Amino acid sequence: MIPSLEALTSILTIFLAVVAALLIALWLSLIIWALRDMRARSRDPFAQFLAALLVAALPVVGIIIYFILRPPETLIEAYERALEEEALLQEIEERPACPGCSRTVEKNWLLCPYCHTRLRKACRDCNALLALNWNLCPYCGNQKVDPYTAGAVTASVMVQEQVDPVAEDEPEPDVEPVEETTDD
Ligand SMILES: [Zn+2]
Ligand SMILES: [Zn+2]
Repeated sequence: MIPSLEALTSILTIFLAVVAALLIALWLSLIIWALRDMRARSRDPFAQFLAALLVAALPVVGIIIYFILRPPETLIEAYERALEEEALLQEIEERPACPGCSRTVEKNWLLCPYCHTRLRKACRDCNALLALNWNLCPYCGNQKVDPYTAGAVTASVMVQEQVDPVAEDEPEPDVEPVEETTDD
């Protein structure tokens, strides 16, 4: 039995209508997806609107363009990365480095043991450790803290060096070389 042309046309019409409905549903869901995705990536309402408009105006190409142009990370990812960076920075700050040789030093060291750079200074009144650029002591209120000068470092380093037994400056033993003279 051969279906009539009228029946074929109506079947084709129904088929096309279903396909069109599915495509419209897909199109709408892509617009909603783009809007949601952009809301996760940007707080800017204009950018969110633009993403939805792009996908709506260019149904297939728009989604590809959106994938290329969208911000690479979501707001949550950006926030987590910022937290990680902050934690890393804090860790670096907690382990101070010598400004002279960049090696890790302790917070309570006066001098760098590797390169003799002065790291901190001690308050004359309470002996608390102060940063070099402080000109008062926050612990005891001493306002007569010596400002840091380059000369102080040299002097302190020299003092440190003088602690060592100064072998080089010691005069030679007074034993004169006994020259065996045959003056007999
Ligand atoms: Zn050093
Ligand atoms: Zn003090």
